[in-house]
Amino acid sequence: MIVGHPSLRRLQRWLDGEEDGLDRHLATCERCATRIESLETDDSVLRQPLLELLTPPEELTTRLRGGIDERMRSREDLTLLSELFGLPIRAARVMSSTSQGET
Ligand SMILES: [Zn+2]
Repeated sequence: MIVGHPSLRRLQRWLDGEEDGLDRHLATCERCATRIESLETDDSVLRQPLLELLTPPEELTTRLRGGIDERMRSREDLTLLSELFGLPIRAARVMSSTSQGET
């Protein structure tokens, strides 16, 4: 017999795998199952601002891209090497520095 419903906090803990005693209640209580679903929704909603926080502003992205372009131009030989041999840039850089050491 269900006396009461677990608190939202307990449901959250159950979602986190820290609360074992709710399995039976949730299996029989549609209301709490719905609350669990809403908790999961809230969680994904909370993630959105975090994603926006992690996404750099457009200005910064453009600036970074410009910097990368400049670097790419100065390493055109490496890019060519990696394209010729189908190697990652890092490997091409190792090859390039090795051949430079020999001359
Ligand atoms: Zn319940």
